[in-house]
Amino acid sequence: MREFDLIARYFSRPVPEGFLGAGDDCAVLPLVPGRQCVVSTDSLIEGRHFLSEVDPFSLGHKSLAVNVSDLAAMGATPAGCVLSLALPHVDESWLSEFSDGFYRLANEFDCPLIGGDTTGTSHGIMICVTVFGHITPGTALLRSAARSGDDIWVTGSLGAAHVALKLLQGDLARNDSLLEKTRPMLEQPWPPVLFAAQLPGLAHAALDISDGFLQDLGHIVKASECGAHIVFDHLPIDPSVRGLPGEMVEEAVLSGGDVYQLCFTAPVKHRNAIETLARQFDTPVTRVGTITDSGGLVVETLDGRRLTPSNTGYQHF
Ligand code: ADP
Ligand code: MG
Repeated sequence: MREFDLIARYFSRPVPEGFLGAGDDCAVLPLVPGRQCVVSTDSLIEGRHFLSEVDPFSLGHKSLAVNVSDLAAMGATPAGCVLSLALPHVDESWLSEFSDGFYRLANEFDCPLIGGDTTGTSHGIMICVTVFGHITPGTALLRSAARSGDDIWVTGSLGAAHVALKLLQGDLARNDSLLEKTRPMLEQPWPPVLFAAQLPGLAHAALDISDGFLQDLGHIVKASECGAHIVFDHLPIDPSVRGLPGEMVEEAVLSGGDVYQLCFTAPVKHRNAIETLARQFDTPVTRVGTITDSGGLVVETLDGRRLTPSNTGYQHF
């Protein structure tokens, strides 16, 4: 199959009015009057970011999910995306499922696929997605914007993706029912995009949890030149991992990556508004701690035990 046939068959679904999609030298994306453009890109490399055995529908879903998650982390609204693919060979059933997974999420979040690039490679599959979004000028949720006294919030739950990965890698003893419960969280994350787009004006700092809760919150602490106090017992531990040995739960919750939920800080006076917004968008939110003046990042249990995890999260190199 030739490159152009492949693009026409799998990556040229209709785009909304006012857009120009695949087929010309560039895509065209209408600008939203009075808003700023927000851009992010993420790559997924076979063997590093996904296992070769992963089902292609999930991979298509996740390729876009990890990108819209970055838009959510800024409080931005998705506007469109482009997809670059490097493939070792043309496998039509793989392409068909991959594109179905990708388009499902693109439709869900009104983030049309408007272009990309397709090439062969003598290495594994490489997927690069760039997303465009928009936001009211000056309202992006920056990592540097946390203030002492802010509440620290987490959306969704923590730990399940990490446990699924450990099961798939054989680092945890085989447990089919646990894998069945946790695997969707690893392979098909749903970042809280609609909720997040309403956070500007309510929240101060935000980021998405991709490399591990502690490591990622550490970025806010560093950029905002503050400290953070976390109550371990208040963290939203995913129900599927609660029954595991304590040390495994701690590692999964504090250091497990691939979550694609948000950690954000907000002034105490916005508690009610945030809870109302969360109900409105069906997004679970949990208050897990407080931003402090200084003192670094401290995690304590309610009975005063201080946790110092040995593994602080995913290392890319
Ligand atoms: P060029 O020769 O300018 O690099 P291409 O032949 O790579 O153009 O791409 C032709 C058209 O198909 C372009 O509009 C491009 O945006 C689109 N396209 C290529 N690959 C993809 C893809 N994986 N997903 C969506 N659109 C794609
Ligand atoms: Mg090209």
